[in-house]
Amino acid sequence: MTTPSLLILPGDGIGPEVMTEVRKIIDWFGTKRDLAFDVSEDLVGGAAYDKHGVPLADETMAKAQEVDAVLLGAVGGPKYDNLDFSVKPERGLLRLRKEMDLYSNLRPAQCFDALADFSSLKKDIVAGLDIVIVRELTSGVYFGEPRGIIEEGNERVGINTQRYTESEIARVARSAFELARRRGNKVCSMEKANVMESGILWRDVVNEIHQAEYSDVELSHMYADNGAMQLVRAPKQFDVILTDNLFGDILSDCAAMLTGSLGMLPSASLGAPMANGRPKAMYEPVHGSAPDITGQGKANPIACILSFAMALRYSFDQGAEADRLEGAVEKVLADGVRTADLLGEEGVTPVSTTEMGDAILAALDASL
Ligand code: NAD
Repeated sequence: MTTPSLLILPGDGIGPEVMTEVRKIIDWFGTKRDLAFDVSEDLVGGAAYDKHGVPLADETMAKAQEVDAVLLGAVGGPKYDNLDFSVKPERGLLRLRKEMDLYSNLRPAQCFDALADFSSLKKDIVAGLDIVIVRELTSGVYFGEPRGIIEEGNERVGINTQRYTESEIARVARSAFELARRRGNKVCSMEKANVMESGILWRDVVNEIHQAEYSDVELSHMYADNGAMQLVRAPKQFDVILTDNLFGDILSDCAAMLTGSLGMLPSASLGAPMANGRPKAMYEPVHGSAPDITGQGKANPIACILSFAMALRYSFDQGAEADRLEGAVEKVLADGVRTADLLGEEGVTPVSTTEMGDAILAALDASL
């Protein structure tokens, strides 16, 4: 077996700070679990713009296409706010997603018991929550044609088109069913089949794929507006939620906030299987570059560390080692170790980014 390859793109702001902690964790798996990675590092976002005049160099894009997985920190910052749209840091991220054709966006919403008080919902509603939203990421109303603002009579009309092909629905549905088989074996698909033809097709295709290939997985359907209500009423009823680009954008942010801090939220974006069977994949924390705390040692590295745990699980088939890493994070939180964004309890002194990374390493050692 060849050594699995990882391209690390720390990016801007707190990106490099949290990625330093992830590098320590990756090294730990190499030395203590005989799970070595061929790691390379490159620039993205503002950092790439500063060196190359573009937010993602062609060579970096080519490298991203070759490796088994990409791990990204964050991009952007006030220094780049006035750049032309075409070279803004975010364009680097969008180019990666587009050219790797990462159509399936996985956003877990997991509530660690120790942090249940951080949720805006009652503790018993969120404690132990563990769901994943699978959002279609490359089609739908954000991309459909026709689009634009036109003149009609004496007024302007804004137009966007919700458009899905059967194959676009089928591939993201498969991704959700595969994920469910590794978890609680339940998929709830959300659309608006009551008022949208694209929703009727969505439901039909999901049913067809289910019957033909995944009848062992429990499937239900829900209108997306009811889904939003159910997410805040009783989120633990779900395991995997499958939905389109627009509804997924909204529902995944809603689900994320069930769990508290932005500094805790990982994500994965997956594409079609490569020749070696692994999906094209990019893993990244949900948060941005946090310019307000950059360089102060305050950033919480857990979102980025949990993104690496997702890589272990979904790219490298190392579910047990992903459990080990998530367990180490859970233990550190249960022990009361907190970065500044997780403060709530009285009398707790926050630890730095480095200290949080070290505490997780110590918990990993203790897991052996
Ligand atoms: P942000 O996520 O960077 O920060 C929002 C708030 O959360 C800030 O107060 C920040 O300090 C805090 N925060 C975020 N991550 C944290 C962490 N790991 N630990 C502790 N606190 C954390 O969002 P923003 O302020 O709206 O955007 C800042 C920049 O990041 C902008 O340039 C924006 O375009 C960019 N951005 C990038 C991404 C990405 O790279 N995927 C995502 C969102 C925003």
